[in-house]
Amino acid sequence: MSLTFPNMAESAGRTLGEEEIAALERVIRSGMLSSVWGTEVRALEGEVAELYGSRHAIACSSGTAALHLSVVAAAPDPGDEIITTPITDFGTVAPILAQNAVPVFADVDPATGILDPRAVARLIGPRTRAIMVVHLFGAPAPVDDLRALADRHGLTLIEDCAQAWLTELPGGYAGTAGHVGTLSLQQWKHITCGDGGLTLTDDDELARRMRLFADKGWDRAKGRSHESLGLNYRMTELQGAVARAQLAKLPGVLADRRRTAVQLVEALRGLEKVRPARPDGHAWWLFPLVLPGGGARELAEKLREDGIPARAGYLNQTLNHAPVLESPLYGGSRYPLEGYEAAACPEAERMVAETLLVIDWNENYTGEHVAAVAAAVRKYCG
Ligand SMILES: *Cc1c(COP(=O)(O)O)cnc(C)c1O
Repeated sequence: MSLTFPNMAESAGRTLGEEEIAALERVIRSGMLSSVWGTEVRALEGEVAELYGSRHAIACSSGTAALHLSVVAAAPDPGDEIITTPITDFGTVAPILAQNAVPVFADVDPATGILDPRAVARLIGPRTRAIMVVHLFGAPAPVDDLRALADRHGLTLIEDCAQAWLTELPGGYAGTAGHVGTLSLQQWKHITCGDGGLTLTDDDELARRMRLFADKGWDRAKGRSHESLGLNYRMTELQGAVARAQLAKLPGVLADRRRTAVQLVEALRGLEKVRPARPDGHAWWLFPLVLPGGGARELAEKLREDGIPARAGYLNQTLNHAPVLESPLYGGSRYPLEGYEAAACPEAERMVAETLLVIDWNENYTGEHVAAVAAAVRKYCG
């Protein structure tokens, strides 16, 4: 097959162009590359806050950094628990460990791979501090139920929107239903500046904690004095300027991805063996297919032979079985995971092993790409 699928690791699958080049030149000519004194990152924060209708947007160096800031905002004591999902990028989980908190993995909805609020409710205990939900592949997570749970138990709800730029919820964009939302600008996301992240919140105190942590705990209004622990998670002006140019293109990226993804959903209608995601609000970072009867690994292999960028499972293994959770974390110490045994998550484990298939998606796909994917899936699943 001669049709090639543009992907996010090459210029044909990105929206990087003259605007980003001009943005970089503007920053370099200004002589100021640091966001502490520059204007680009502050402007990016203002633009993202406005787009999302959030009181605060705080830029940082990566999506993982943004998630670390969100855990800092939730302020767990060492050994406290944070409930999260076993199907996500490890950037969701690493910050929990970095704050000496314990990740507790709840099972997922087998139709979407997204945290099941009933599974979360069963795991809430005296040491639970927060719930971190992921809008997986760009699909809207059930945040209303999770927010109700969080409010009932006094927990912080964190929404990981790294794959979910402009995912639509009934009340606004994903990232605005919880106490903190996080975004990523890494190479493989909807828009990119190589690496970068943002947190969203309406809460002044959480915003203050996150800003301080991202800048070495340095309240610059008070001179050179450090009152809280922090690292350097600052975004540079170079990243900020490119991210601003990308942000202007975000609505177009979403519109293009949604148009072709909905075409594929339509083209797969009537197939019994595969279930595409529901289009409502979906940001289509990837195009997931669930095979309730299993066989995702075999199907992915056949699709790849036909030139379709499909992969099974998304992960090698669900994160409750990540080898790091059985290894020393700091020097020889496993604190706070001594004696830790992650609970089984049977639905998630079955998805990754047997039922989940993802197809790379891209704003530069055309009707031809949709037709090629549909024809290949129909060939094996018709
Ligand atoms: C990409 C991603 C992250 C981590 O973001 P980085 O910018 O790569 O650090 C976290 N969570 C999810 C769901 C992601 O897809």
